[in-house]
Amino acid sequence: MLKGDDVFKKIIGHAKEYGFIFQSSEIYDGLSAVYDYGQNGSALKNNIKDYWWKSMVQFHENIVGIDSAIFMHPTVWKASGHVDAFNDPLIDNKDSKKRYRADVLIEDHVAKLEEKINKEVQKAAKRFGESFDEKMFRETNPRVVANREKIDGIMKRFVSSLEAEDLKDVKALIEELEIACPVSGSKNWTDVRQFNLMFSTQMGSLSEDTNQIFLRPETAQGIFVNYLNVQKTGRMKIPFGIAQIGKAFRNEIVARQFIFRMREFEQMEMQFFVRPGEEKQWYEYWKENRMKWHKSLGMPDDVYRFHDHDKLAHYANAAADIEFEFPFGFKELEGIHSRTDFDLGAHQKFSGKKLQYFDPETNESYVPYVVETSIGLDRMFLAILSHAYNEETLDDGSQRVVMNLPPMLAPYKVAVLPLMKKDGLAEKAREVMDNLKYDFMCAYEEKDAIGRRYRRQDAIGTPYCITIDHQTLEDNTVTIRERDTMQQERIHKDEVKRVVMERTGYKR
Ligand code: ATP
Repeated sequence: MLKGDDVFKKIIGHAKEYGFIFQSSEIYDGLSAVYDYGQNGSALKNNIKDYWWKSMVQFHENIVGIDSAIFMHPTVWKASGHVDAFNDPLIDNKDSKKRYRADVLIEDHVAKLEEKINKEVQKAAKRFGESFDEKMFRETNPRVVANREKIDGIMKRFVSSLEAEDLKDVKALIEELEIACPVSGSKNWTDVRQFNLMFSTQMGSLSEDTNQIFLRPETAQGIFVNYLNVQKTGRMKIPFGIAQIGKAFRNEIVARQFIFRMREFEQMEMQFFVRPGEEKQWYEYWKENRMKWHKSLGMPDDVYRFHDHDKLAHYANAAADIEFEFPFGFKELEGIHSRTDFDLGAHQKFSGKKLQYFDPETNESYVPYVVETSIGLDRMFLAILSHAYNEETLDDGSQRVVMNLPPMLAPYKVAVLPLMKKDGLAEKAREVMDNLKYDFMCAYEEKDAIGRRYRRQDAIGTPYCITIDHQTLEDNTVTIRERDTMQQERIHKDEVKRVVMERTGYKR
């Protein structure tokens, strides 16, 4: 995978040029951290959704899917803790007027110290060669040890001041660390304030009683409030899961890095209801299962890693992220959380309705515990896009940009290309296309030289190009060109469907 800021800029440019992602309301200069998916982007996004849905719902007899509303009763968000606790600490720089998340400023400072340590280790590894003992070096080198102690001290103090809601101390820490605004370079900061991330609006016309409601900041609560409906009507037996894909909204303070952090985004979440006491075992199961899902897409193993949380959210008794190596470093892609009975317990309390399960095996009633898997669809899209983007120099010295998308997820599976329009080749190509289009998304192109058409298909990641030439008219064979190797073979036109299906379908 290509890395770095320049590459990231190129990926953003490519996503726009080839109809994957546009800035929302671009003709009005855009809306910050809101994006639209274009013709190829929406196809790729739908394929990711489909792959997730199939592997969670279709392949698990005990997981069903729902589609709940974005608007919910306002008390839902009181019960879930979002009204009181879904906050980020924000701080403004008085000179640049730029707003930052205090935690991000501190984490960036810590990342710089980590970087210093890593440089020190790399230097030593070079110096000592084969005999280098990294573990020993990290434990004994005075500069490394000093920086490690600094990091631990900062994080300990930061976590404890956040937990104590001591925002004055968070500011004091930023000042003591002499953190400067990256834009103005000054250390002239406002106080740190809590900022609730939920968007709100009014329901009902002005003449009636107005009622403040929220745009959901996660899809999970739509699952919790429907837990009993689904359990009863689906006659579900614990352990079972409810999955959902849908929009979520967060008024992020610092929205940057393209579709990594958006104000309107989509989540793919699954809540798995288990017997109390068995949640840790299911948590481990889903951690492994979700990692396997990611790896099944064919990207190398080393672009993923787990990050276990030290500071747990108010609802969790264990939590980990699956991190992906984006062009700007390893960042969270998916969260796996053991949420205990926090959510169902809170909804039971606030609604006054029993949300219990009668377990026929133990003859007991209880509020189930929940293990959640929660992945951002847009982040998954960015992970795939940034890994797929490649620039290659070919044997003849020419350059191509190719998107090595997992074939299963590519917007188009095949492009049908008559070598030229005349001599009946276009008609023959239409015949081939008509035979394929009910089974796959197919592109059809007859304009420009064949080489240019191949490049265009490479740039949107189409795994196979079928070319119809004069020989096709004689013996009904076509060439099939593979995107990554650019190798071509001749096969009978009636074989195309089977071959493409085999090579782009779901792998068991
Ligand atoms: P972060 O720490 O990056 O803000 P989070 O821990 O708040 O994320 P969760 O609440 O666990 O995220 O949400 C689950 C998933 O939803 C995340 O792993 C991420 O993929 C996605 N997600 C969360 N916030 C956003 C956002 N603003 N834009 C795009 N995706 C998001």
